[in-house]
Amino acid sequence: MNATKTMIAAALVWLVGAAAADDAMSLDELLERFGWDFDTAVVTTERVGDGLYALFGLGGNVAVSIGADGVLIVDDQFPEMVPKMRAAIEALGGETGAGEIDYVINTHWHFDHAQGNLALGPAGTRILSHANARRDMARGGLINLVIAKYRQEPYPEDALPAITYTRRMGLRFNGEQIDLIHAGPAHTTGDTAVIFRGQNAVHFGDVFITTGYPFVDVDSGGDIDGMIEFCRTVLDELPEDAVVIPGHGRLADRAAVEAYVGMLETVRSRVADLIDQGKTREEVIAAKITADYDDTYGLESASLGFVDRVYASLTR
Ligand SMILES: [Zn+2]
Repeated sequence: MNATKTMIAAALVWLVGAAAADDAMSLDELLERFGWDFDTAVVTTERVGDGLYALFGLGGNVAVSIGADGVLIVDDQFPEMVPKMRAAIEALGGETGAGEIDYVINTHWHFDHAQGNLALGPAGTRILSHANARRDMARGGLINLVIAKYRQEPYPEDALPAITYTRRMGLRFNGEQIDLIHAGPAHTTGDTAVIFRGQNAVHFGDVFITTGYPFVDVDSGGDIDGMIEFCRTVLDELPEDAVVIPGHGRLADRAAVEAYVGMLETVRSRVADLIDQGKTREEVIAAKITADYDDTYGLESASLGFVDRVYASLTR
């Protein structure tokens, strides 16, 4: 009896400890933190090439291929945004019939890029991703953004990718070659860059963004050296005049990605030097090592999470 009581007490202590460590925000709290509002969010579009467009709404950027084979999109934001995306696609001339989207490729498992699966999967859209992205969507997990934490719930079977790959996969769709490329752990362990060969464009997912410093999701297996390697691998595939669709932010080009890789390498080596000198995480963050990049990639406060994750990646 006493042994049982001790076991229950131990379990309760563990549960309380786990609850305290898991100070995750709800989606509503997170949306408020980022100033995101589904009711007022508007989907805007930008032409990338023949039959290829970028959609901007709430969450990650979406690429849309529209043509004789139907509609293929890259990333799908949130269920609340799906009707707005369908309307935008119809306005672009998509043969969407009842507004259906035939395929979606998820660049990775994060909710702001894949949560739309919850609406599209049950509606019959075929979902593709890297095998690790599917695994992470199926099991869910805590996303530690440093400034906030969000627990992504496991997706049901009908919202999970039915088609997965591990290194590369090619599709012919709307008369063009579409290549899915994975180059190892980067932003997560299941990142995909989607190259539209015919339109000379790429959707980078969150490995490359133009809204500021990137997020290395170290708790999800993300890796700063992998981010650099992933960018280099994709750059090797792209002609000089390629259009770059980032995971978040305005469209960009090769030069922007090359400058970004230079920033990643410099910050990485500065953090590594401080670690070699025996500096703690707090000391590394206090050293303001991104000061010369803050005008380009965000305010000093925005670099805190980035430097924290680079430190976490290098000391794992
Ligand atoms: Zn992400």
